Amino acid sequence: MAENRQLRAISLTSHTHRGVKYPIQWGQSDPLQRGPIIGSIADSSLKNTIGSHAGSYCVYRAMAVAKGDLSPVHKPDLTNTEPVVDIGPYPQWFDPAKIVSIDPWGHRVASDFKAEIDAGVDIRPTIAITKARITIPEIQYAVLQGLVKADGKILLASGEANVTKIALEPVWHLPGIAERIGVEEMTLRRAMFEQTGGMFPELVTRPDISIFMPPIGSTTIYLFGDIDAITDPDREVACRVHDECNGSDVFGSDICTCRPYLTHGIEVCIGTAQKGGVGIIVYNRKEGRALGEVTKFLVYNARKRQTGGDRAAAYFERTECIAGVEDMRFQPLMPDPLHWLGVTRIDHMASMSNMKFDALTSQGIEIVNRVTIPDDLIPEDARVEMDAKKAAGYFCDGEVLNSEQLAEKSGRDLEAY
Ligand SMILES: [Zn+2]
Repeated sequence: MAENRQLRAISLTSHTHRGVKYPIQWGQSDPLQRGPIIGSIADSSLKNTIGSHAGSYCVYRAMAVAKGDLSPVHKPDLTNTEPVVDIGPYPQWFDPAKIVSIDPWGHRVASDFKAEIDAGVDIRPTIAITKARITIPEIQYAVLQGLVKADGKILLASGEANVTKIALEPVWHLPGIAERIGVEEMTLRRAMFEQTGGMFPELVTRPDISIFMPPIGSTTIYLFGDIDAITDPDREVACRVHDECNGSDVFGSDICTCRPYLTHGIEVCIGTAQKGGVGIIVYNRKEGRALGEVTKFLVYNARKRQTGGDRAAAYFERTECIAGVEDMRFQPLMPDPLHWLGVTRIDHMASMSNMKFDALTSQGIEIVNRVTIPDDLIPEDARVEMDAKKAAGYFCDGEVLNSEQLAEKSGRDLEAY
């Protein structure tokens, strides 16, 4: 049972204007002047953010506190948790408009703010960097078939791969987020306050606090090869930015191309790393184009039951009927982890998405080659999605169907499962 379970006075964030002890100057090149992100509620007088740590998991933390399993004032012991590789600082970190959705200094807090932490301030990392060995059946198969060669370091003869993996929590600089998506900051704050059911009153009552740690899914980066190649203009960078699709990524559902695209992207990354470059997979928890999995499954049913059957011509329309929009991923936020890594050029971009291409290039990241998914990797029921995307202008080097072909049913009926 945790200590300090006694009831404490509730601090009403909507009615107090105390100012902050550690103000944040977003984009400052000196971390001490930039200031530490303090999202812990252990001492609310020091908090300089709206929201709290751990993204969507902050709700589970609240439950553990409520049940008495976790002390509300527990501070993490950060001994030996420091990053396994150095990343940055890079010039991108010092431009307040370049990175707006993560804290570029988030992996370094245990060293940068050691004095404050030693003095008892609860400052927590928002980025963690470790190493892993991963096993992807598709890569193992490619090694066994001799399609991909093991090198003993990046890719082992067993088909396993060595990676550096990085977890990044969302840390939003609200003025920058608003500017990136093209709305007024107060409009954004008000909508977020209202649409979360009033979860964070400070969004509207504390315009002096510009940092929001939203309760949303996070981002993970998997790096293959030598990280120093990222900033070496003579070495190549391969990349796939992948938005989560649990049904395909993990369970192999054949209605979309997500897992095949991910594993193909990993293969491209490994190949580039083996030539002395580096491969970067950025994995965003933005399930179902950030519409959520319930919406996604409703759309699947509506697609398959509609008059005329599941066909490319009605692919986007069915989503919009249910969700009200086709997509809520806000790709303009997507380049931030790449800016953080110091990426300025991607030689091999494993993606057909024009939204991702435009987001990266409009923010100064050059894309040399766009790599499409090989046709033989497209699952049977995913033709509808693929044909619809190609017809909508996604990058491809194959055939784009005409309107008659797009109107033909090409997806499986519900009775056929
Ligand atoms: Zn998918």
